[in-house]
Amino acid sequence: MHGQSFLNPRQGPPDDGALVLVDESSQVGERRTSQREAITAAIRQSKGPLAVEEILHRARKMTRTLGIATVYRTLKLLTESGQVHALTLSDGQIRYEAADLGHHHHFHCRACGRVFDLPGCPIKRIEQDIPVPEGFQIEDHELTLNGLCAACAASD
Ligand SMILES: [Zn+2]
Ligand SMILES: [Zn+2]
Ligand SMILES: [Zn+2]
Repeated sequence: MHGQSFLNPRQGPPDDGALVLVDESSQVGERRTSQREAITAAIRQSKGPLAVEEILHRARKMTRTLGIATVYRTLKLLTESGQVHALTLSDGQIRYEAADLGHHHHFHCRACGRVFDLPGCPIKRIEQDIPVPEGFQIEDHELTLNGLCAACAASD
């Protein structure tokens, strides 16, 4: 009689719990898309590059079932497809940011560990004055300022 009760029209629509089960078993692709969107949104909405744990924390506010393994897997995909850029600062921590931000630099707070994007570039103006050896051509540069962010400086 199991099949008949399944077809019973008086049973009504499944409740939210049943919908979640259906979502997880038969619409895995759709669920992954929304987790991927949450991860992408967390990275895009940040004012600076984020470590994996920070991405998990922020993306979980949008999709609560998100786990760290999915974050790692998604970051690998986004990095390989060129949408997200991974950078490593002097603390050795890998952080992730949108790849289309253009040339910019970072401020790394030694107290809270957060990294902030700095708009523009002060180096380009002085690049021709930097004494590189004869025949060398500068193609790129990196610059990270270290110190205290406003919040940490105020509580120091
Ligand atoms: Zn700080
Ligand atoms: Zn940045
Ligand atoms: Zn620059």
